[in-house]
Amino acid sequence: MSNKRCAECGGKLGPLMHRHWSLRFCRLACKKLYLHKLDEERRAKVRWFAFLARGSP
Ligand SMILES: [Zn+2]
Repeated sequence: MSNKRCAECGGKLGPLMHRHWSLRFCRLACKKLYLHKLDEERRAKVRWFAFLARGSP
């Protein structure tokens, strides 16, 4: 199994790739998209925990 794939779109990586930790992205747009999704996930979790902390009405 090759990990020479973009973590976002799964496309082949060219000589110019962008990294984020151990992840690789074929384009800067892919990296941005991935980080954006990660951020959204985190925000959704925070929202959910805030909802739980408030308790049921
Ligand atoms: Zn990509």
